[in-house]
Amino acid sequence: MGTLPRADSTMDQWPGPVVTRRSITVLGSTGSVGRNTLDLVTRARTSTGREAFPIEAITALNNVDLLIEQAREFEPQSAVIGNPNLFQRLKDGLDGTGIEPSAGAEALVDAADRPADWVMAAIVGAAGLPPTLKAVQRGVAVALANKECLVCAGALFMEAVGESGATLLPVDSEHNAIFQVFDYKHPETVEGLILTASGGPFRTSTLDEMQLATPEQAVAHPNWSMGAKISVDSATMMNKGLELIEAAHLFPINPERIEILVHPQSIVHSLVRYIDGSVLVQLGTPDMRTPIASTLAWPNRIPAPSARLDLGAVGTLNFESPDYERFPAITLARRCLQSGGGAPTILNAANEVAVQGFLDRHIGFLDINTIVERTVEELFRGQGGPHFSSFEDVTELDARARTEAEFRINDCAGVTGGL
Ligand code: NAD
Ligand code: MG
Repeated sequence: MGTLPRADSTMDQWPGPVVTRRSITVLGSTGSVGRNTLDLVTRARTSTGREAFPIEAITALNNVDLLIEQAREFEPQSAVIGNPNLFQRLKDGLDGTGIEPSAGAEALVDAADRPADWVMAAIVGAAGLPPTLKAVQRGVAVALANKECLVCAGALFMEAVGESGATLLPVDSEHNAIFQVFDYKHPETVEGLILTASGGPFRTSTLDEMQLATPEQAVAHPNWSMGAKISVDSATMMNKGLELIEAAHLFPINPERIEILVHPQSIVHSLVRYIDGSVLVQLGTPDMRTPIASTLAWPNRIPAPSARLDLGAVGTLNFESPDYERFPAITLARRCLQSGGGAPTILNAANEVAVQGFLDRHIGFLDINTIVERTVEELFRGQGGPHFSSFEDVTELDARARTEAEFRINDCAGVTGGL
């Protein structure tokens, strides 16, 4: 289970609030988290000069135009596009800049291997595992937004962190909150964790309404502006299930002691219970630039432009228990965590496929959970629970789960004729 974060020598020499040098790489720079990260870099450069956060590499999958624009603005050493068909466009777009273009899955891993002091892992999905793992293996600071890495390969991933001495800095707002208030020197005094959840756009919807939900409705998150996949995960509340598994790997705590609490305003970002009855908490307005800034400057702080919290204006903070009937993904994720082995790998892969199937309008909103649940049952229970001990095993099981989930989507689409 989780390892303690370690300050390495770079961190010890961290010069204070005015950051002058810490080279960085942003994996997934064109996404929501990636763009927020670069926004903080722009602000740090404006206030402290261009030397703040020199960039080694930025990467994207398909959005080559934004990648070129970012490369021209931030002048990284290298810009990588995951889709190899877009290499020529990237090359042409960077012509005359001296920035090295490259493309393809291996080039993404090479980007993570470049000598940055800090790497933002903000690719979405298990596809982010190979480059994120490469950054971890270099033993540097890795800001982890890509929770799917921990869900699909948690124990192996944390083993790699332990072996390399990498400093894992949680970006997910809930885990970042816990990271900020967790007493790592005395973990035995921590009694439990409470992960807060907004409840998503369908918090008060009926099952009938959810059955008819469109992708547009599902991605319209009430508090956070995020990529499509995590937005749908928030709507099914699978996001909280994935975060439960993420927390179980990140923090030295018995997973049974991780509770989930719905908090529609997304101001209390998670809580840590101590054995004396104290509950410590981090609050803030829902803006990812706050947790990202805390990882970018860790163990110090830099300014972030997030709206300031005005509790007088907010007035009331609401909390309620999750509705496990309407949001069965949370229970499914907890069961997968308890089962261990390959169950979370299957859960994650099937969920990625089902969410895409929903976004592509091949299946209905409630079918997402049905497909994930059946895929887990088929692959996990049917074979007595696959066990694995290497990243190759993870890759193989991930692929099998995707095939199985795709088969179920085709089945669903065949029955309903698509949506
Ligand atoms: P996004 O879809 O907005 O961006 C994803 C980025 O990854 C893009 O740059 C895209 O080009 C790249 N990418 C996508 N698929 C890829 C692939 N197969 N190979 C290489 N690159 C690929 O996603 P996001 O909302 O920024 O989320 C990124 C990660 O951070 C996710 O794991 C998400 O769960 C996590 N996260 C996001 C938020 C948020 O506010 N957006 C909050 C907490 C955690
Ligand atoms: Mg979160």
